Amino acid sequence: MRILVINSGSSSIKYKLFDMPAERLISRGALEHIGEKGSKIANHYSGLKTILEEVVSIEAVGHRVVHGAEKFKKAVLVNQKVINGIKECCAIAPLHNPANLSGILACQKLLPGVRQVAVFDTAFHQNIPAHAYIYGLPYDYYDKLRVRKYGFHGTSHEYVAVEASRILKKPLNKLKLISCHLGNGCSITAINKGKSIDTSMGFTPLEGLVMGTRCGDIDPALVTYIMRKKKINLQNMELILNKESGLRGISGISNDMRSLEAKASAGNRRARLAIDIFVYRIRKYIGAYLSVLGGLDALIFTAGIGENQPSIRANICCELFRCLNKKPKIMVIPTNEELMISRQTYKLIRR
Ligand code: ADP
Repeated sequence: MRILVINSGSSSIKYKLFDMPAERLISRGALEHIGEKGSKIANHYSGLKTILEEVVSIEAVGHRVVHGAEKFKKAVLVNQKVINGIKECCAIAPLHNPANLSGILACQKLLPGVRQVAVFDTAFHQNIPAHAYIYGLPYDYYDKLRVRKYGFHGTSHEYVAVEASRILKKPLNKLKLISCHLGNGCSITAINKGKSIDTSMGFTPLEGLVMGTRCGDIDPALVTYIMRKKKINLQNMELILNKESGLRGISGISNDMRSLEAKASAGNRRARLAIDIFVYRIRKYIGAYLSVLGGLDALIFTAGIGENQPSIRANICCELFRCLNKKPKIMVIPTNEELMISRQTYKLIRR
């Protein structure tokens, strides 16, 4: 079965075409600058039309959808009810869900009769218990506004957990894992018996680790303090926390860990500080998740930094190894979210 996997972002569409169940990658590609000034591609519909001129005989489509809130605990076949549900989630994921939805609607028009599946980044974390997902806020905010930790990168965390079980030749339900997805966005997840039991990202992808441009955990009182002091409005404050903070904000140089390592080696103190803060935050989360899991079989690294930067991995692991009697395996597993989406799409369609 030929399954097209679509990751439709605000100004880009990435795709991979798989032959399933063989899991053979037939082709892949990406379109960028969609809808931007001067671009030949006006919207997601024309972007997908261009892609579908090259990619033919598609039997099913799997879509990455960032936010499924509490509505979607697993992947689902797309129908009108699902589309309405994804629309409702746009309010809490305004940067991501509208673009994901545009991809689904465009495929409905361009591939009539071809079944589509929505796979949610939040779904893997829907097993997290209430004591981990409820914030220390008035409970009404959860009851009425569904304010809670959701967690993201779920498809990636699940994929590497499944891979770890395969490589270690141990069933997932016998494993305690911590997976570190360290790319531009970064998150870390405690996985017990194949289920996410806590994760660092929260209501939005802003919480948790220090990332390329996102601040991660900060004292919430800082937000209003800075807004008042610097006379910053809501929209700009959100922009600063999401786009001008993290590695970029601390270093004043870049959000790219490769540049920062080069600068730090050449003696740049702010680049070194940014790396040290990045590593330290990850160590703290690993410590916390060790105590949540009550043991650890393997610590997994994935995504751009996790897969490619051994010095960062070494810095994260050195103290951990010193203090543990039973040493966990340290695994580097390249993520493949598209393959995971293709697997889930195939499973649903076959059923
Ligand atoms: P995204 O979250 O945008 O998918 P990536 O997973 O591509 O991000 O990770 C980007 C980060 O990984 C950057 O900080 C980059 O410096 C770092 N990195 C290190 N080595 C590589 C590499 N070989 N390819 C891509 N990114 C790398």
